[in-house]
Amino acid sequence: MTVNIFLEFAAPWISGLTPYVPGKPLSELERELGIQDAVKLASNENPLGPGPKARAALAEALAEVGRYPDGGGFELRRALAEHHGLPPQAVTLGNGSNDVLDLIARTFLHPGAESVFSEYAFAVYPIATQSVGATARIAPARDYGHDLEAISRLINEQTRVVWIANPNNPTGTWLAAETLRAFIGSLPKTCIVVVDEAYTEYVEAPDFPDATHWLATFPNLIVTRTFSKVHGLAGLRVGYALSDPAIAELLNRVRQPFNVNSLAQAAAIAALSDREHVRASVELNRAGMRQFTQAFAELGISYIPSVGNFITIDCGRFAGPINESLLKRGIIVRPVGNYGLPNHLRVSVGLESENARCIAALAEVLG
Ligand SMILES: *Cc1c(COP(=O)(O)O)cnc(C)c1O
Repeated sequence: MTVNIFLEFAAPWISGLTPYVPGKPLSELERELGIQDAVKLASNENPLGPGPKARAALAEALAEVGRYPDGGGFELRRALAEHHGLPPQAVTLGNGSNDVLDLIARTFLHPGAESVFSEYAFAVYPIATQSVGATARIAPARDYGHDLEAISRLINEQTRVVWIANPNNPTGTWLAAETLRAFIGSLPKTCIVVVDEAYTEYVEAPDFPDATHWLATFPNLIVTRTFSKVHGLAGLRVGYALSDPAIAELLNRVRQPFNVNSLAQAAAIAALSDREHVRASVELNRAGMRQFTQAFAELGISYIPSVGNFITIDCGRFAGPINESLLKRGIIVRPVGNYGLPNHLRVSVGLESENARCIAALAEVLG
């Protein structure tokens, strides 16, 4: 890359920052290959897309798109508050939950402050930390998952934020209720703990926690959720944080006034009430996960057991060329070398036919 002549004028911590690498867009691969039936299993999207209620709400909201959105998100916050049995003052809306993670970093982190997270944790945590000049402390993982003891050892007086994805992306690993609750209880009150529950709806393990139930007990807890995954609204960008109202009040000071657009607000309210779509999406995911794990067992492909809507396979060698071969076959999955997993590929669970095409391509490429 050429030297960026403006780098010396940027804030000093910007030089060490590398941008987030998103999944390759379908249209881009189709353009490159001159094909029209590429399969994207790279961004953990819901293969069904939005449910019927959200689609209807979107069509209706289009009429008002000439107006600014409700900057306070009154109706959506009210719906979320009711959904979670919390006051509306506990809700902070974001342009996707990534926006909320950024709000947390901008509110609680600064040069000299530290955040702690696990090796293989979601890639937005280091970016949000570094973009405000704070220092990231990374705890070694255990069996690919968060090792809470290792995380605890990195916490000191400078620690302001601990990021925990439950389940984690890209590993699909998770923490049981008792373990996570005890960890949160052990933290100093000077330290905010963020439990990122982007995939919570997919998890069926009986001892998997809903951390929103602990908000009354732990005032330093923030729980984040998103409409991008099971609700199928990734393109609209809407997520939220639930927290003590005093934390929400601070987050709302740095929030851009119109960060969630009016279509997203309307669709999210409708999606929240569409329990049937959530149920159908979870069921489709369960079947797709079975389809993948059975095929991987037959093909001798090893993988990290996952409770999310994605599964990360171990190619046993550098995954770059395998990814290239999959792309040539019209299959987009996610390389996770930037997570320190150069031999792995993350595959999102799609429709049965999409999963089947991915499995067939993997059998060819890895065979
Ligand atoms: C996908 C994902 C999110 C959600 O991102 P949005 O900005 O809401 O689309 C948050 N956290 C994790 C761990 C994720 O994988």
